[in-house]
Amino acid sequence: MADFVIIGGGGYGAGVAWELARRGADVHLLEAKTIASGASGGLGKRGVRANGRDVRELPLMKRAYDIWPILHEQLEATTGYERSGHLLLLERDNDLAHAKTMRWMQEQQGIPSRWITQEEVRELEPHLTHDIQAAVFCPLDGIADHTATTRGYAQAAARLGALVEENTPVNALEIKNEIVTAVITAAGQRIEVKKQVLLLSNAHVPGFLMQELGINLPVWELLPQVMLTEVVDPMPINHLIGHAHRTLAMKACGRQIMISGGWRGRENPLTGQPETQPDQIEGNRAEATAVYPILAGVGIAEADTSRRELIAVDGIPIIDQLPAASNMIFATGWSGHGWAITPAVVELLADWALTGKRSPLFEPFRYTRFL
Ligand SMILES: Cc1cc2nc3c(=O)[nH]c(=O)nc-3n(C[C@H](O)[C@H](O)[C@H](O)COP(=O)(O)OP(=O)(O)OC[C@H]3O[C@@H](n4cnc5c(N)ncnc54)[C@H](O)[C@@H]3O)c2cc1C
Repeated sequence: MADFVIIGGGGYGAGVAWELARRGADVHLLEAKTIASGASGGLGKRGVRANGRDVRELPLMKRAYDIWPILHEQLEATTGYERSGHLLLLERDNDLAHAKTMRWMQEQQGIPSRWITQEEVRELEPHLTHDIQAAVFCPLDGIADHTATTRGYAQAAARLGALVEENTPVNALEIKNEIVTAVITAAGQRIEVKKQVLLLSNAHVPGFLMQELGINLPVWELLPQVMLTEVVDPMPINHLIGHAHRTLAMKACGRQIMISGGWRGRENPLTGQPETQPDQIEGNRAEATAVYPILAGVGIAEADTSRRELIAVDGIPIIDQLPAASNMIFATGWSGHGWAITPAVVELLADWALTGKRSPLFEPFRYTRFL
């Protein structure tokens, strides 16, 4: 029995567990495998970026900017957070007008964003191709160690008294009069819910909502690809890098470079297991060397597509509560960019669970926007 039962031990589940526990709440977190075994764990680091983000998420990112630099102190754990700044590179004439407008909009939202000329770009990133015409620079953007932070959240929650249970998948809900009264684990254990359930199991959420409530979410599953190069010495990349038209994101991870940006793995039809695809690895590598020619000949040490992510049809998450389960908050469909805003979202989710009041910042993410 617990006041707050959380399903899923990724960044969101572990983060909300900590936010609730530090306010003295009685919390039970249930994770199907191990903490950070989903999208919030795995190879390299994650981008913590406002630059180029959907306008509806920018207020959350602005709040997250305040939390990231102090989170390691609050959790007494490493977060690997570094404020490297993000450069959105512009290579084509066609992209300049949009980027200028976007920069202005970001400034209005309180996200420091500068227009950087070709000469300035080359000063910041001397190894870039000469084809880069300009960039939008967000100096407050950076990177963080997602695996360490997620584990740090869970450990800090446990120290404050939260019960964190791994290897405990939730299979079903017990619902009476539109209130979730208990969650049922795969082992048949019944865990009574005294106040709220937080369904934060990411890729598991749509199937579970369909099974339990007959609700369809307009989302689909993706296997995003991330790669780490061999050791590169000296490191030619100084910032978190994005690109206006190439499918590319890059960051320095220690002495290796992480390359990603939207290439994908595929599920093996026989085993159901995610697998990397040679054409996707080669495509991502080719984009990276087109932008940083110095990387031609640098090998890929590791590629991974094992972490499932859910994409919403309009590219922003779904964070809501449904009348058929009125004491259950769910959040999913992070659409490949859910990591950066985690500290802000978990704070507001905990507020909502404790007070019953939804933050106005969550308004754009209602499920009803699709109906
Ligand atoms: C490769 C990759 C790169 C990314 N890059 C970035 C980036 O650079 N910047 C950015 O902002 N975002 C990025 N993202 C997105 C971001 O990492 C995710 O949106 C975020 O981590 C999702 O967190 P989560 O807690 O909702 O999900 P998850 O971390 O997937 O956690 C869900 C947890 O629920 C558990 N679970 C599943 N079923 C059950 C069940 N039945 N019972 C109990 N537990 C269950 C799972 O085991 C899992 O641990 C990236 C994602 C991926 C996959």
